Order: sequence, then structure tokens, then C-alpha cells
Amino acid sequence: MLMTNGRRRGFRTIEGWARGILLEADAIRECETHGWMQDRADPHARERALVIAREDPLFDLSPEQAVAAVQDMLDSIGDTCPECPSDNG
Ligand SMILES: [Zn+2]
Repeated sequence: MLMTNGRRRGFRTIEGWARGILLEADAIRECETHGWMQDRADPHARERALVIAREDPLFDLSPEQAVAAVQDMLDSIGDTCPECPSDNG
């Protein structure tokens, strides 16, 4: 796997950081073909992502702001890739 070290240090935007946390927690995955993020609809993974956000907030965000940023990112991600055929289950 790539980027197993310092994986949360390189992000410069809240969006990039939130996306990284969701990926780390397996709450989302990236379409291998198109690169779109997809919500895996896994409540345990979501909870894990929120715990990570709360315990390791970006820059000077409060834990509440960090959690809200991750939730906003999750809300913005669909459960399918917009460019993939919708026949995969
Ligand atoms: Zn795709």
C-alpha cells in the first residue's frame, strides 16, 4: 500500500484531509477507473473516521469542527461512481 507513513501530514486543505481520513477508515473508496470517491455505506467505518477526526484534528480545528468537516465530506460523496455503469452491486 502507498502512503502508510505520514499520511495525514501532506494535506493542505480541509477537504483533502477529511477525504484522507475517510479513506484511512475505509468509509470511502476510490474508483480504480475514474478516481471518484464512493461512499461505502459502512456505519462502523464512518464511526472510525469520526473518531480519528476527533482525536487528531487538522491544524487548529476544534474536535467538533474536525468531525463536522469529515461529515460534510461524507455528505458530498455519492455511493456510486458517476462515471461507472450502475450494474455493480
Ligand atoms: Zn468509475
